[in-house]
Amino acid sequence: MSNMEDRGSTLERWLTPPRVATLPWPSELAAPKLSFEFFPPKNAKLEADLWACIRRLEPLAPRFVSVTYGAGGSTRARTHETVARLGRETSLTPAAHLTCVGATREEVDEVARTYWQAGVRHIVALRGDPPAGAATYEPHPGGYAQAEDMVRGLRRIAPFDISVGAYPEVHPAALSPDADLDFLKRKIDAGANRAITQYFFDADVYLRFLDRCHAAGITVPIVPGIMPVTNFASVKRFSAMCGASVPDWLARLFDGLEEDEATRRLVAATVAAEQVRILQANGVDEFHFYTLNRPDLTYAIAHILGVRPA
Ligand code: FAD
Repeated sequence: MSNMEDRGSTLERWLTPPRVATLPWPSELAAPKLSFEFFPPKNAKLEADLWACIRRLEPLAPRFVSVTYGAGGSTRARTHETVARLGRETSLTPAAHLTCVGATREEVDEVARTYWQAGVRHIVALRGDPPAGAATYEPHPGGYAQAEDMVRGLRRIAPFDISVGAYPEVHPAALSPDADLDFLKRKIDAGANRAITQYFFDADVYLRFLDRCHAAGITVPIVPGIMPVTNFASVKRFSAMCGASVPDWLARLFDGLEEDEATRRLVAATVAAEQVRILQANGVDEFHFYTLNRPDLTYAIAHILGVRPA
């Protein structure tokens, strides 16, 4: 056997996965820490849905629950109201998303001060996307130009717990993967306590990103963002905008289920459960769920991960 053949067969042995891959079940692992993301409701009906969702997930005692800030700052008042009510009426720790879009530094600082005075200690600091109709992001004159600047500004105001965004598949505006990672490192060095990732569907994508973060000297938690797929068509549309890839296997799984919501939900739970179990088996012990204000899939996946009502 030549050296090349020998090398080939050794490589093959390394690369061929075992025929039966068994993942540990949650009873064999410590229950992970969870956080949940909601969006502020637009009307009374959606508000009732949101609060039903919050009440269903509350017993799972997440580390925090966050409320998004609409594109272009469009939900400012509704985000505040939801965050304030979470603080007043639930046992949950609220986190407020805040973006740099459409506001001066003073205005952003004032919002942050108001949160601090209301007892809100956690901010998810984001640059934000361009408002509807604008092709590219332009910083507001006198505003924070990007998330890194906002993190620095928040640090001057109060000792907030600060989360920032991270992109396992690279932010669409990034000049290169390394430049993107450098931006993340700068946000952490400016004072962020953790990063929460954009959603992804292949566990490998996140695990490789985590390796790159560690190699770049980033030591804060990089919490995977998990998106249970309830509506495949809209996830596909949104993914094209935010740079998350939709694998062919996922498209094939949802193919033919457009009119069959019951089966779609079973498939969605299976896909997300598989994803989180692979991550958990690889040592990931924190997960951030994009709930889309629907509790059932998040609740089921949390259960599979070993999280039970407190
Ligand atoms: P930054 O970290 O400032 O920048 C992101 C990337 O863009 C950088 O890594 C870099 O690659 C590139 N970039 C930025 N500035 C420059 C520059 N000057 N030169 C070259 N490259 C540059 N959006 C909302 O509107 N509301 C929300 O509530 C919201 N919640 C989110 C929650 C999470 C967990 C995540 C991951 C995203 C969320 N977003 C939200 C979306 C976010 O606002 C967009 O992805 C936005 O385009 C980037 O925000 P950022 O804070 O990551 O930006």
